[in-house]
Amino acid sequence: MTFFSFTLLYQQLLLKKSRINSISRMFVTNDLNSTNYDACPECDLLINHAHPTIGDKVHCPRCGFLLARPRKQSIEHTFSLSIAGLILIFPANLLPMMGIEVMGKSTNGLLFSGVMALFSETMWPVAIVVFLASILFPLVHILLSFLISGHLYFNRSCRYLASWMRWMQHLDEWVMLEVYMLGIIVACVKLMAMAEIKFGWGLYAFIALLIITGMLTSKLDTELFWHRIGELRKEHHHES
Ligand SMILES: [Zn+2]
Repeated sequence: MTFFSFTLLYQQLLLKKSRINSISRMFVTNDLNSTNYDACPECDLLINHAHPTIGDKVHCPRCGFLLARPRKQSIEHTFSLSIAGLILIFPANLLPMMGIEVMGKSTNGLLFSGVMALFSETMWPVAIVVFLASILFPLVHILLSFLISGHLYFNRSCRYLASWMRWMQHLDEWVMLEVYMLGIIVACVKLMAMAEIKFGWGLYAFIALLIITGMLTSKLDTELFWHRIGELRKEHHHES
């Protein structure tokens, strides 16, 4: 099978899958006078506005882009997960991830010392990527999730909500704690043969943080968040 026919088959499969999920709720609109339609962010196809219920997934009928995925209590879950994440960031960054003992001499490895080690070995481009993807971006992502869901949870309007939301959605693609985790696993396997490794609390906190960021992404109902941000803005305009 050639690559072309393989991608064609995959596209057809994707299309079929999205049709099953969305055909009952979404129809490609021909009536341009109707104002109740959205454009697919990926391929700009005009689609009648869907009203999916919890558990549904709404895909674009043409390109298969995931348009909406309502989640149960998305705001409450995001709020509590981001608090847990903010707490876990401290031990994950400040406590030693692992201790290595070579000939009676032991050293402790922190998340940040891993980045610094890359810097000193003149691998600074890698060090920057690792620093951004495993320390800075996760921190900003969790902080933004906390701020947005907190405001929505307590019904507080803030003029930065929309830009925070956009930033968070961009950052979501750049949070890559898995990359660092993979590095740790590779280092462990290599070191296992020559030294005794002791795992520290920093590593457990880091794994927990990895799970929390994954859950944050899967619990986030972007449509609901945008809808609530719009509502809060309208309420704010009425008050003032
Ligand atoms: Zn599309």
